[in-house]
Amino acid sequence: MIPAKFDYVRPSSVEEAVTALQSAGEDAKILAGGQSLLPVLRLRMAAPSTIIDLGGIPELKRIGEDDQYVMVGAMATHHEVMRNDLVNSHVELIARATETVADPQVRHRGTLGGALAHADPAGDLGAAALAMDAEFVILGAGGTRLVTAADFFQDYFTTAIGEGEILTMIRFPKRSGWKSHYEKFNRVAQAWSMVAVAVALKVDGGTITEARVGLTNMGNVPIRATGVEAALVGKAAGPDVAKAAAEHALEGTSAPSDADAAADYREHLAKVLTGRAVLAAAG
Ligand SMILES: Cc1cc2nc3c(=O)[nH]c(=O)nc-3n(C[C@H](O)[C@H](O)[C@H](O)COP(=O)(O)OP(=O)(O)OC[C@H]3O[C@@H](n4cnc5c(N)ncnc54)[C@H](O)[C@@H]3O)c2cc1C
Repeated sequence: MIPAKFDYVRPSSVEEAVTALQSAGEDAKILAGGQSLLPVLRLRMAAPSTIIDLGGIPELKRIGEDDQYVMVGAMATHHEVMRNDLVNSHVELIARATETVADPQVRHRGTLGGALAHADPAGDLGAAALAMDAEFVILGAGGTRLVTAADFFQDYFTTAIGEGEILTMIRFPKRSGWKSHYEKFNRVAQAWSMVAVAVALKVDGGTITEARVGLTNMGNVPIRATGVEAALVGKAAGPDVAKAAAEHALEGTSAPSDADAAADYREHLAKVLTGRAVLAAAG
């Protein structure tokens, strides 16, 4: 179908974008890579009066660093993120999760900011961002605010980004030398996750000294598997430890049932994939 009629604005700075968003009112929609928004418009599940395209704002595409953080502009594409040296060196888990998203075409258009703002529970980047303690820089008429990943994902397709606000950057505390793996289960190669598990481990002399684990599609929002993390820390990375830790994978989850999988099947997958992800991350 053809989308309903809308006005189109392409600002060249974030300030202009916020002003355009404020003046267009609650009916306006931001366009990033369009990989989720355009299908919604074409199906007429949304009919915004104005589309504000962030594609003309170069600063939103930048990936940089300071002493503590890797900073990724919201409009950096999946392709750029997964190939970026800073991301691969300091937040490898984000690169590993990003390379499982869809196919090269979608990864060249879709953006990190768009995927996180969209907040699809089956999306692959939320669990990795949560596990990595991402912080979200959100700009509105009142200025900039910083939201932690734990507060960012609020519900099914709902985030802390308010009306009239734009997600401008996602920053990740540097975790250099960690080992990471994203274990995704889907029906066909380009599909969304039925369930997936994001694992990052700090291993010192064969012992896991820190662990971060996130679950995809085991609830309305990405879930941090703190029980799994606690079961891993202080242990030697190996099959028995991975299996015992995976027994904690369902704590705090509420798996959905849908056309792809029933809740009990997802629960089975979450345990199996957690064990695999831990072993793969540990090498
Ligand atoms: C065939 C196909 C397969 C896919 N498979 C996967 C997959 O396996 N795993 C996965 O994780 N994803 C998958 N995706 C989705 C993909 O990751 C998209 O890139 C992502 O969901 C949306 O990013 P986008 O940049 O295209 O955002 P858009 O579609 O442009 O926007 C999505 C939503 O976020 C809002 N938004 C965007 N940017 C901002 C911002 N900076 N501030 C505030 N609001 C904003 C928009 O208004 C819109 O509501 C798939 C998509 C397609 C088409």
